[in-house]
Amino acid sequence: MSGPAAPEIAATVFRSERLCPQPSVLGSPTLEANRAQFGHIIDSGGSQLDQAVLTYFKAPRSYTGEDIIELSCHGSPVILRRVLELVTAKGARIAEPGEFTFRAFVNKRIDLAQAQAVRDVINAQTEYQARVATRQLEGALSKRLTPIKEAVVEVIVHLESSVEFVEDDISPEATAALTDKLDQAIQGLNEIAASFSFGRYVKEGFDLAIVGRPNVGKSSVFNRLVGSDRAIVTELPGTTRDALYESTSISGVPVRLIDTAGIRETNDVVETMGITRSRTAIADADISLVVLDASRRLEREDIDLLDSVPEARRIIAVNKIDLENFLDEKLYAETGVHISELHESVVSVSALTGSGFEDLKATIFERLSGDAAAERDDIILTDARQHAAVRRAIEQTSEARALMMAGELEEVVLLKLRAGLEALGEITGETLTEDILGQIFATFCIGK
Ligand code: GDP
Repeated sequence: MSGPAAPEIAATVFRSERLCPQPSVLGSPTLEANRAQFGHIIDSGGSQLDQAVLTYFKAPRSYTGEDIIELSCHGSPVILRRVLELVTAKGARIAEPGEFTFRAFVNKRIDLAQAQAVRDVINAQTEYQARVATRQLEGALSKRLTPIKEAVVEVIVHLESSVEFVEDDISPEATAALTDKLDQAIQGLNEIAASFSFGRYVKEGFDLAIVGRPNVGKSSVFNRLVGSDRAIVTELPGTTRDALYESTSISGVPVRLIDTAGIRETNDVVETMGITRSRTAIADADISLVVLDASRRLEREDIDLLDSVPEARRIIAVNKIDLENFLDEKLYAETGVHISELHESVVSVSALTGSGFEDLKATIFERLSGDAAAERDDIILTDARQHAAVRRAIEQTSEARALMMAGELEEVVLLKLRAGLEALGEITGETLTEDILGQIFATFCIGK
């Protein structure tokens, strides 16, 4: 329970032998601040309902910044429900989604970026996601933004004072110093924005389509990546007629794997539908893993398929290398190029023995992190709304800089700078409207 009435309400349902040995003192304000105390939950009739530990976090040193009472009971849902009934009968009410965190935000215990990180920590499905979210919770983004905001504010203050004292025109040296400050701010913002290219995958996951001619081993590769026998593996070409989806994670990044129907020319209506869906899957996927069969001749269809996937989103898995592997020579004989020359990401694997899969996962991970590779452990932007705000701040600040260079009126430059600062305020929450705040906190679990 959070709020000024929390200790009072708690005192009516909790009795600690040590603090109030007499039943008659039940309800008196005997709760010790910032300590955990053992006692009993007392039912409305005065009987003991459960043993419990009560912790009283006194305002402002609590999560929400208000008085907080935590009651830890035994886990039975029957007891917990009864305790809730008891405290709600005394005037407490069930929290709205995210309300504890919202109160923490309103009382300035945390900023909005941290509040959103709380949700991300709770929703984390992999340890890596949790680690990234925890860094945000500790204020990584806000810390990076603070000096940037300060730089913009300094420029604003300087321009404002020169507006006030009209006779003091800004000297060329001063203009240079100001644009320098803005350059640094823009560069900092660009770095933050760049981390989103990988950060969004960390939070939302990515789609990986597994494509290839029938029987090259797509389903087997899929199963190796998923780590179970989800897809049907058979020796009959064309058995995977529909796309299969499975969620898993690669190096802690969530991934939706799509095992597509084998792509080939066919008269089978159902299979044709599956193939159409494969093409859609390729179009939608963040990365397509093109599986080739090392033990067989490269066919026209393989080459067509390779051509149909944009190179930036393509990784090639040469499968079945446990068998005789001379695909490269065969390709070379047919086209005059080696596979490794053809594409930058080619990984040799065997779905049968599992060899090469660590390498394959690392290749996928690297492709996703792209330019952000160096910053992989410093991802600070995982949220689309925050990313949009950073982009807007970059735009406004860059325009302000250009206008300043062009000798535009200070008032005009100031408008842009203030808009840029406002965009940044939307990330930490100082400049957001109530409905947007409401929308953000509505995505939280009940309470929290
Ligand atoms: P898909 O039609 O492309 O999905 O291929 P499947 O995964 O169904 O595999 C087709 C056949 O190739 C099956 O008999 C698999 O056991 C076999 N296979 C798949 N991967 C390998 C591999 O790495 N080595 C060997 N030797 N056989 C494989």
